[in-house]
Amino acid sequence: MITETEARARVLAAITPGPSVEIPLLQSLGRHAAVDLLATVPLPGFDNSMMDGYALHAAESQPNTAPLIVSGEQPAGRDLGLHCPPGHAIRIFTGAPMPSGADAVIMQEDVQRTGTHIQCQDPVQPGENIRRAGADLCIGQIILRRGDLITPGKIGVLASQGLASFRVHSAPRVAVISTGDELQPPGQPLQPGHIYNSNGLMLQAMLAAQGIHETTAIHCADDLATTIATLRQALAENDILLLSGGVSVGDHDQIKPALQALGITPDLWRVKVKPGKPFLFAQHEGRFIFGLPGNPVSSYVTYQLFVRPALQQWMGHPDPQPTRVPAQINTALHNDGNRPHYLRGIFKDGHFTVQGLQQSHALFALSQANALLRLEPDQQVTPGQTLEVLL
Ligand code: AMP
Ligand code: MG
Repeated sequence: MITETEARARVLAAITPGPSVEIPLLQSLGRHAAVDLLATVPLPGFDNSMMDGYALHAAESQPNTAPLIVSGEQPAGRDLGLHCPPGHAIRIFTGAPMPSGADAVIMQEDVQRTGTHIQCQDPVQPGENIRRAGADLCIGQIILRRGDLITPGKIGVLASQGLASFRVHSAPRVAVISTGDELQPPGQPLQPGHIYNSNGLMLQAMLAAQGIHETTAIHCADDLATTIATLRQALAENDILLLSGGVSVGDHDQIKPALQALGITPDLWRVKVKPGKPFLFAQHEGRFIFGLPGNPVSSYVTYQLFVRPALQQWMGHPDPQPTRVPAQINTALHNDGNRPHYLRGIFKDGHFTVQGLQQSHALFALSQANALLRLEPDQQVTPGQTLEVLL
């Protein structure tokens, strides 16, 4: 059995980013840039006013200067090309282009206006209240690099460049294949001995949470011929196969025999983690196959440890690794097993508390948790100790 670190390294070594696509800006949220982008539109685009007030010559803004003639008005919008000669001021509004000649803007609160004249009450310095062209972003400056995550702020700056679409790494086509004769789809009546297929939707939701919304849900019976046919078709139509169940060594576990029949040798099978030992990874003609154990918590944990980073890499993430943060552990703990154990719990305000039943079928306890704590074999934890948890 190989370690978690080695298993993840092997998976990540196999996966190269998928193709790129040009998509409408809003749809690029959460994706990774497929190209570097340089600014073509400076920010601000032109010298403009930071305030509602008056554009003027700063030297003429002293309270003892003679009143200035208000000789024009420049709102935000079309540039009227106004000029401000000495002794004059131009009424101006936030975002409006600066009139030529003027070198400052005085806030309207700082002048006394009488008819067509203003008297300054609080002087301004040259350049005051002017937003200079290119001060935030100049032409040719790097806006983002290939691999950068597209966030709402990045979408804003892309829009500021006049772009309606952007080139990002595409999301993979994923088939979520739930194996098991005992599985019933939610919404159907339950027969004795059957359970609802919870992994299928949970895995689709985990994919959606990472920006992979269009996935295909497939049920597969515990029968070798059916499993072979299901895998063959899913491989033809998808980039990634996410299997749950059937990957162990039981008489009804058909994944390994089916892969063998298709001539596919797994890159790895069985990892030293609890839960999640039977995790399997294989590749075939540019497609990637993840076999997750059927127990819901095992599926969840192996997804977080291996599948999520792998899909991030497929989608162009430059350094996909699970996110770990330090946490103070609230209770005494001990791992008396021989594999690293991921305990489920709640991370809040820097503290981690183990939550509910810690067995691989305990889906409700998992649903209450928001973090995982890895305990090494034989590791003892005393309350108050600080360790890293996986969010
Ligand atoms: P397996 O890995 O197929 O041996 O399944 C291990 C356990 O997980 C069994 O108790 C299965 O009933 C359960 N299980 C398998 N697939 C699912 C699923 N899609 N939803 C909920 N439980 C499942
Ligand atoms: Mg099964």
